[in-house]
Amino acid sequence: MMKSYVFPGNIEEEILQIGAQQIPYMRTSQFSALVKASEQMFLDLIGCSNGRMLFYTASGTGAMDAVVSNFVTTHGKAFIIAGGSFGRRWHELCTYYGCESDVFEVPFACDIDYLALEEALDVSRPSVFLCQQHETSTGQLFDLEKIGHMCRVRNIFLIVDAISSFLSDPLDMDAMGIDICLTSSQKGLNIPPGLSFVVLAERILEEKFNHRSYYFDFVENLKNLERGQTPYSPATTLFLQLHARLQMLIDKGTDQVIREVQEKALYFRSLCVKYHWDIPAEVPSNCITGFFVHRNADLLFTELMKRDIYIMPGGTPHYFRVSHLGIQTQADLDELAEAIYEIEHR
Ligand SMILES: *Cc1c(COP(=O)(O)O)cnc(C)c1O
Repeated sequence: MMKSYVFPGNIEEEILQIGAQQIPYMRTSQFSALVKASEQMFLDLIGCSNGRMLFYTASGTGAMDAVVSNFVTTHGKAFIIAGGSFGRRWHELCTYYGCESDVFEVPFACDIDYLALEEALDVSRPSVFLCQQHETSTGQLFDLEKIGHMCRVRNIFLIVDAISSFLSDPLDMDAMGIDICLTSSQKGLNIPPGLSFVVLAERILEEKFNHRSYYFDFVENLKNLERGQTPYSPATTLFLQLHARLQMLIDKGTDQVIREVQEKALYFRSLCVKYHWDIPAEVPSNCITGFFVHRNADLLFTELMKRDIYIMPGGTPHYFRVSHLGIQTQADLDELAEAIYEIEHR
């Protein structure tokens, strides 16, 4: 069987089977009820019970695009944490939509220097703060408690891309003071790619939204959500898989869900120590383990693929990433580490 350590990772048969069924019609009260129930379960899981959640048939970047075109463009300057390729994507989107922005660079796999950040915020005086909770390109987790506090005392809107940290690391929008949060289907939710989500805190619903993107328009999507619908054809099967997944998550409880991801991460990291692979992240997220091998990095990806094992090349020489989302046992991780070690020492 294929072993996937990329996103979404190996998925349970029960969820996969939903994808093998005939597709129901979506303009029905039954589908509306499923959408409404999914919205409420999602809001409870992300700690934003009184907010609203928009569903987009798009990958995670679609949700980022929606947030910049509808919200960031209505405000003054944006301030961006750029700790890797996903942070830089915020900057590219701001540039694309003509939003003024200041970029705070964070070196590869390092944590933010929070004192320097406070000083930079006082100089920049932005209206909107854009960051990732987990910069997936490096494995580094940022401290949202600290960031949330800094934004709150300065009256800055906090927008967090939690695409890879939701259900991997603790996240509570209300407690952390997050105004807008976004995520997508193929990461912590461990269902196929194709859906993304924008969660708006209750206080944000009072704000003015721009109409710069027809498909992603917040106002139009919020209006349709009132009756449990999306303005355009939803990815129906994905909505059914999402609903089933959310019920499983509610039954298990977020703490236990996160604990299980963390156990897999810690186990694999103990194998990295055993085999002397260096993990650069200063504060690693549970979501992935990024690590450096010493030899044969050019062979690793394709040799693993021959065994039906997939890991993510990291964009930096000798650097790879293994996701801990999805089904993986300790025996799977042993097998993975042994395979990497064998290829490294050919
Ligand atoms: C995966 C990811 C995205 C979105 O990528 P898509 O390919 O558009 O789904 C954005 N931000 C982070 C932090 C991610 O991990």
